Amino acid sequence: MATGLVYHDDYLKHRQVQHHPECPDRLHLTMEHFLRTNFLDMLEQMAPKPATVEDLTRVHTREHVEYVRCLSERGSGMFSVIDSDTYVCKDTFEVARLAAGGVIEAGRAVWTGEVDNCFALVRPPGHHASLNQATGFCYFDNAAVMIKHLQANYGVRKVFIFDWDAHAPNGTMGTFYKDPSVLNMSIHQDPHSFYPGTGFIEQIGEGAGKGYTINFPVPGGTGDPDYVYFIEKFVAPRVRKFKPDIIVVAAGQDSHFSDRISQLNVTDAGFARMTEMMVELAREVCGGKIVLELEGGYNLATLPQTNYIIVSTLLGMRHSLKIEGEVMTSTKDILNKLEDTLKASTLWREAPEYGESGEVDKNPGKGACRIKPPL
Ligand SMILES: [Zn+2]
Repeated sequence: MATGLVYHDDYLKHRQVQHHPECPDRLHLTMEHFLRTNFLDMLEQMAPKPATVEDLTRVHTREHVEYVRCLSERGSGMFSVIDSDTYVCKDTFEVARLAAGGVIEAGRAVWTGEVDNCFALVRPPGHHASLNQATGFCYFDNAAVMIKHLQANYGVRKVFIFDWDAHAPNGTMGTFYKDPSVLNMSIHQDPHSFYPGTGFIEQIGEGAGKGYTINFPVPGGTGDPDYVYFIEKFVAPRVRKFKPDIIVVAAGQDSHFSDRISQLNVTDAGFARMTEMMVELAREVCGGKIVLELEGGYNLATLPQTNYIIVSTLLGMRHSLKIEGEVMTSTKDILNKLEDTLKASTLWREAPEYGESGEVDKNPGKGACRIKPPL
């Protein structure tokens, strides 16, 4: 069993303003923890290369890529402000390219069989970055860039994304909203009163992609038994039917009970069990091919150990952690509402076929360095 770990010290170079939760220590402390516990020796360490502009523009407009590059180039010692929580320093563009390239490397290595599975320990995160917008600490959608890279270069057809980050993946959802080749499921805190304000039950995709986007917007307090219940009762049966070629987990550990950015209640036992369940599902449907890539997770005191629990579970280690508590009534209500919403869709009557590749403009412009006005 070989588990890959993608990491590069340059991931520490991208900085937000002082006291920002998305800080280099998230990765630095994780790597220190892996080193101190001799865990690093058990992993296949893999170095990323930067994603190319061609890779990035399969998901984002050329203007957006140029925008991030231009802001970085003019930011010598200064931060440019994209929005109230997303900043650009002089290294942001190169590090964001390296993050997307790191997830590409993880996907490539798993797909070609160099490793059995892989964890991409990258930053900045990606799942909020949309076609033409950096936001929510994200610049390029690392997972989406990897998926499009595998589809363009390796003949990968169908991908299942499971996102357990506390926030709805609005960027990834937008990219694949009309694309039936990607089944995109996310459990996140209810966006009625939580960033990014989208990711509702009713948002199930459009056109050929109808039914391939599935959101589980949960209230604060939702924890391990609820996540396991969602996977057992709803996620796994549909993934078996969808039969993806590879599984991608957008692993944001900000749904951890100790993370003050959300009110969710997942413990290390929950992350271990979810990892196990995804690995088992991957074995069942796609020869074990699974990639996990870091999204959120901001409690520096607990994130390194949670990352260790996840990656060691991926490696096949088992921890004596127990799922405790009852499934909340709201969890069962959400599943009932989802079933009702999907009833209108013909999706699950037969195995979906590979379809059109979504709404991304393949020729988005001439690449002029157009600076968008700050918000
Ligand atoms: Zn998050």
